[in-house]
Amino acid sequence: MLKAFEVLYNPRADQKFETLAINADSPISENDILVKPLLVGVCGSDLFHLESYRGAALRIGHEWIGDVIKVGAGVRSLKIGDRVTSSAVLACGRCEACTQGKSNYCTNSTILGSEVIGALRTHLVLKEHQLVKILGGDDQAQAILEVVAVGEQALIHLQSLKADRQRLLIFGAGSVGLCTAMVASSQGYEVILLETIPERIKRAQGLGYRVMALGLALLDPEMRHHFPLIIDASGDHLGGKGAWSYLTYFGAKDFHGVMVAKYLKPVQFDPNQLALLQARLVWMRGVSESCLRDTVSKWSSTQKLSELAQELVTHQIDFSSPVDLKQAFETAQDRSLSGKVLLRLPEGNS
Ligand SMILES: [Zn+2]
Ligand SMILES: [Zn+2]
Repeated sequence: MLKAFEVLYNPRADQKFETLAINADSPISENDILVKPLLVGVCGSDLFHLESYRGAALRIGHEWIGDVIKVGAGVRSLKIGDRVTSSAVLACGRCEACTQGKSNYCTNSTILGSEVIGALRTHLVLKEHQLVKILGGDDQAQAILEVVAVGEQALIHLQSLKADRQRLLIFGAGSVGLCTAMVASSQGYEVILLETIPERIKRAQGLGYRVMALGLALLDPEMRHHFPLIIDASGDHLGGKGAWSYLTYFGAKDFHGVMVAKYLKPVQFDPNQLALLQARLVWMRGVSESCLRDTVSKWSSTQKLSELAQELVTHQIDFSSPVDLKQAFETAQDRSLSGKVLLRLPEGNS
């Protein structure tokens, strides 16, 4: 095993996943912080990228928690030993979007889990403003905070379209769907989830959410044009179709929707139908630093979050070689078998 490494995905390599040695001792500048990632979640968008990526070196990992092991001389808000996380959108902190609190739309951003950088590495250097300190909660609950922030961000977008907290349909009861359901319920929305995978339906029911099989919802005439608010947390990876084509079926007149799902194939709405319904849709891009900060302070030590993590996190796999990663991805791809799969990086402070 290498002492300090990062993980690459190369679709043309025999093993697909490779570890590459990195330098753990390089000096860090004034506002930099050196972090040791501890848990990295496998997310639907990782599976999406693995299906679509054709290059030679994709870095993996954007949902993560870790510990600060070194701080630059100018760092004030964090110290060695602090537990931290970040948004997948690593923002510049200076552009117009950043100064307006919309760092997810930063024009100079780097994405975690891209060709540039991923969180699945033993040493990660980030800027002070990019890191959010976590207080409270167990490791497992902390590891899904970024996903909860996706739910919070989706609801911020929904609120910007329509302020009333009404009947909300969520497509997909995967990690994003469930986290969004938790956030929305806490804000007073009346939530219904639609899902096709029986194990996910059971999990959502077990957590106390109202969930219906998509097939049954389509047979129920009362469900047609029933929802003033919709969040799409499905997506078309792993051979699925995603739920976008049902938006105009379930959406009520004047419905508002937020698209969180990622699509590989083109999404083709019928403009006449959208016009007739006077629909409004927003496509979401990542989570802002301020949203992640608010999410962490609101949720990290709550009972609700640890209950959700207990149901949702079905696998924790110790990462010691690329073979473990292959196993983790195979487990995550079988959605009847797994909810959230977490990779645990080797401990030790070197
Ligand atoms: Zn994710
Ligand atoms: Zn920026």
